[in-house]
Amino acid sequence: MLFPTTIAGSLPKPEWLAEPNTLWAPWKSKGAELARAKRDATLLALKMQEDAGIDIVTEGEQARQHFVHGFLEKIEGIDFAHKVEMGIRKDRYKAMVPQVVSPLRLKGRVHADEAHVARTHTARKLKFTLPGPMTIIDTIADKYYGDRVKMAFAFAELLNEEAKALQADGVDVVQFDEPAFNVYMDEVNDWGIRALERAAEGLTCATAVHICYGYGIKAKTDWKQTLGSEWRQYEDIFPAIAKSPIQQVAIECRNSRVPLDLLGLLTGKVVQAGVIDVASDTVETAEDVAKVIDEVSKFVPKSNIVATTNCGMAPMHRDIAEAKLMALGAGAKLARERFG
Ligand code: ZN
Repeated sequence: MLFPTTIAGSLPKPEWLAEPNTLWAPWKSKGAELARAKRDATLLALKMQEDAGIDIVTEGEQARQHFVHGFLEKIEGIDFAHKVEMGIRKDRYKAMVPQVVSPLRLKGRVHADEAHVARTHTARKLKFTLPGPMTIIDTIADKYYGDRVKMAFAFAELLNEEAKALQADGVDVVQFDEPAFNVYMDEVNDWGIRALERAAEGLTCATAVHICYGYGIKAKTDWKQTLGSEWRQYEDIFPAIAKSPIQQVAIECRNSRVPLDLLGLLTGKVVQAGVIDVASDTVETAEDVAKVIDEVSKFVPKSNIVATTNCGMAPMHRDIAEAKLMALGAGAKLARERFG
C-alpha cells in the first residue's frame, strides 16, 4: 500500500492525566493512580489513531513528561536535585537542566509498561520514539565525562539497550528524535551519526531518525524567523544519513521552508514526510495533505513515502490534534486514489 501514515510520536495528554496545552506538564495524580491514568491515556491515544486511519501507531508518549527527560528519569548517574542553567541548541534558549555526576547506567526498563499496553491493544504496526544521543547531551549538564562525545556514546549504549528491549516487546519501528541535528551540522558529520548508529546497533526492526525544527512553541518559532527564506540545514547532513544504515528519515514538509528537492539527497531511504503542520491550529484538508504528498513524490519514490506529522503534537489542543489526525488519514487515502 502506498503512503502509509504515522505520527511523529506524541499526542496531547487528557486533562485528567496532566495539565493541558503545555510542555513539561505536571501530572495530575501519583503512584498507582498515575500509572492507571497513563495506561488509560495510552489506550485512548491508540484508539484515536486507529479511528483516523493511522497505519503505524505510537503510544502517543502519554507516559512521559518530556521526550528527553522521560528517558533520563530511569538512568543512574544523573543528579536531578541540583539543576543548573544551560544554553540549549547553541544558546538559543536557557533551561534548568540536571547534571551527569557519575557513570551512566540504566536502572531497569524505561518504557516497558507503555510498550506492553500498546502492543497488547493494537494489531497495527507500532512505532516507538526515543531521544537521540546528540539531543540528550544538548539537554543535560556534564560534571563527570568531561567530553561531549564520550558522554553521547555513553547515552547511545543505554539507548541501544532500551531499543533492543522495545524490539523484543514487539515494536516494529524504533525512531530516534534528533532535533539537534539541524543545529550542530559539523558535529553530526564528525560523530553525531556514529552515535546514532551505536544507539541503533543490532536492531532488526525498522529504524528511523526524526529531525525537525521543533514544536510550535515560541522559542522555536522565533528561531525559525532567523533562518531565512530557505532552510538548507538538511543539505549538510543528508549525505551522511544516506550512507548510514538508519532506514527512515522523518522530517517536516508542510508549511516548512525546507526546499523539498533536498529530499533527493536521501537515496534509498524511506521518507516519513511531515504533511501536517503542528505549529498552526488551522486544520489541514485532505486536499492539503495530498498536495504535499504529491510534491514530495517528485523527489522520493512513491513506494518510499510515509505520511506523518511535522513534529510531536504534545502541546496542542486535543480537539485540534484529533482533527489533524483525521485529515492525515483522509489525505493519505485521497493521495492513494489519485496517485496510486
Ligand atoms: Zn520534531
